[in-house]
Amino acid sequence: MAESKTKAKLLPEDVDTDDCLTSYTYIYSPDLLKDQVAFITGGGSGIGLRIAEIFMRHGCDTVIASRNLDKLNEAAKKLSAVSGRRCLPLCIDVRQPDSIMAAVDEILKEFGRVDILVNNAAGNFLCPATALSFNAFKTVLDIDTLGTFNTSKVVYEKWFKDHGGSIVNISATLGYRGQALQVHAGSAKAANDAMTKHLAVEWGPSGVRVNAVAPGPISGTEGYRRLGGLRVEAAGAFQSIPLQRAGNKTEMAHCALFLASRASSYTTGAILVADGGAWLTSANDVSMLLGYWSAEHKRDK
Ligand code: NAP
Repeated sequence: MAESKTKAKLLPEDVDTDDCLTSYTYIYSPDLLKDQVAFITGGGSGIGLRIAEIFMRHGCDTVIASRNLDKLNEAAKKLSAVSGRRCLPLCIDVRQPDSIMAAVDEILKEFGRVDILVNNAAGNFLCPATALSFNAFKTVLDIDTLGTFNTSKVVYEKWFKDHGGSIVNISATLGYRGQALQVHAGSAKAANDAMTKHLAVEWGPSGVRVNAVAPGPISGTEGYRRLGGLRVEAAGAFQSIPLQRAGNKTEMAHCALFLASRASSYTTGAILVADGGAWLTSANDVSMLLGYWSAEHKRDK
């Protein structure tokens, strides 16, 4: 008991909902991102929202961008209230380059600069390959992979090419061992990991660093709920992870902060796996996952 309390104390604060933290203990200097501007796709919910909050608590203004403007407006109000920094909500679809170009023009008009891009927008669900439609596979690649390329290219051409900058892609470990029921997201993120390295090589001479964070199961997220995290947790299956627990959103935000900031000034083309060691030891049991998927599928109907 005393030991688990000590472990809990080492974790950064988090809340499970899409709300801001009620308290925060700094690990890095509070002015690490002072007066910088970060563009965060999918920044209105989950991991992206917490990344926005932690960046803002370190002196950064942010732009959070996705399809649902109502959700973004609500998130932006909360983020500014808790941090005292500006947060601009913008409606984009990362599959539509025109919408990204308009957003970057707006960012440059409003802030006059952009220093950091976090490619966090993604879609995911569990589905066996045989039940996955051609369109569903394509949609995930369109959002996760083409979306990351589209956004990176627009920000590079409109600003980073001449001013440098830092790109952080939010990846996943699904492809490392061919996670069952995840051929769509695993393939998309594997392509993104390659893209992280290609763009690090091509854009390094312009002063652009390109890195990625690969989260494991992260509590308090839509991904966690959809991928059966709560059930896995209740069944005690996290005991097989070396760190024996799910990660939290603030932990992912701290990884993104490290890679986005000058704390990692000589790091590019790196993929920081932040999964408590999960991919090394977790079960990849297709029968068990198919059973879970069928049960959820029936419940949806
Ligand atoms: P989430 O809350 O669902 O975040 C995804 C965000 O992407 C949403 O805010 C969504 O907003 C946005 N989005 C989706 N399609 C879009 C599009 N076409 N254009 C623009 N924005 C779009 O999920 P999350 O779990 O926090 O995931 C965040 C990132 O972490 C993802 O890259 C995911 O793959 C990665 N990840 C998560 C976990 C986990 O356990 N949660 C594990 C590994 C990796 P709108 O609906 O408003 O567009």
